[in-house]
Amino acid sequence: MPEVIYLDNNATTRPAPEVVEAMLPYFNEAWGNPSSMHAFGGHVARPVAEARETVANFLGAERPEEILFEGCATEADNHAILGVAAAWNQPGTIITSRVEHPAVLGPCLRLRELGHNVIEIGVNNEGLFDLEAYEAALAATPGPKLVSVMWANNETGVIFPIRKIAELGKAAGATIHTDAVQAAGKLAINVKDVPVDLLTIAGHKMHAPKGIGVLYVRRGTRIKPLILGGHQERGRRGGTENVPYIIGLAKACKLATAALSDGSETRIARLRDKLEAGLLATCPDSRVNGCRTCRVPNTLNISFEYIEGESVLYHLSDRGICASSGSACAAGSLEPSHVIRAMGVPFTAVHGSIRFSLSRYTTEHEIDITLRHVPEVVAEMRALSPFVKH
Ligand code: PLP
Repeated sequence: MPEVIYLDNNATTRPAPEVVEAMLPYFNEAWGNPSSMHAFGGHVARPVAEARETVANFLGAERPEEILFEGCATEADNHAILGVAAAWNQPGTIITSRVEHPAVLGPCLRLRELGHNVIEIGVNNEGLFDLEAYEAALAATPGPKLVSVMWANNETGVIFPIRKIAELGKAAGATIHTDAVQAAGKLAINVKDVPVDLLTIAGHKMHAPKGIGVLYVRRGTRIKPLILGGHQERGRRGGTENVPYIIGLAKACKLATAALSDGSETRIARLRDKLEAGLLATCPDSRVNGCRTCRVPNTLNISFEYIEGESVLYHLSDRGICASSGSACAAGSLEPSHVIRAMGVPFTAVHGSIRFSLSRYTTEHEIDITLRHVPEVVAEMRALSPFVKH
């Protein structure tokens, strides 16, 4: 494969070499089933228990039993939302935001179809959560309530005031879930300080493999299983444990804890800011989407007005640079991202939004090369754009 400059880490991250190394013995040697009665399988139960403890420490959970290993973050989000509502014996209210990932919006939609009341809270033009509308929604809804609001947005990186959201929700008697997929490994997470009942993370957004997610469930939270089957995860999620991936995720949590205290995030933010300043200076009619002072350190969402983000991505890809756009190309029409639209980004900029997301493997040299290529591609696209006066 040609060398790539990978700036799409909010989509997925490179599995850390240390993670891969930690996993290998669980494919090659200790490949037993942790539920087996015999010693060969039983030997794997202890590393899984230790991994559960590591993840519990990473999130600040009080007990390892509060950690459920699941198939991905989508499953964990579905479990949180559908599982809490299944434990109600009456219709209830789900309060979420308009800019959630489809892994949250999908189950909310399903609950609406089943007769529950779903309220989507909006954001302002910087992508910041509307706390006033949230408080009003909490006050206006009798019956059981679930709040599911993300910690950080996958497209813009904007951070929501999750502690405040959780405190207000708890005071109103709601169960609180947060999708922390884009916060984990980028911000310190501690459920001792943030009173959420349920929290989702994904292995592959923090240098572990795809196909492993975690649902943190605070002790005492009423939730039904989503995947019915064996007695694994204390009967809360059937299915034989994915031992190598669980081990890999635990290793990734340890690496993330170290990276959060060794200045890696500051270095990433500096590179992101360099990219941002460089692009704003060299690409006229560009604008940053999302609050610049309230973002995770690795994310830059920028619109180049009057051109299609997809064509820019396509040409960058030809030059070995991987980024992404929030738009989805469906049935021949380019649908602008629901996140960018919810922020009221002007029409001329909505289609030209691009997300660059860095990681601790991103180098200054890669940012310098990107800063050479993007302005060239944008200028080429603008030369062809019918929306630009030539
Ligand atoms: N939640 C957020 C905020 C995400 O960014 C993603 C993936 O992009 C998911 C959930 C779903 O993760 P997965 O596809 O690993 O299930």
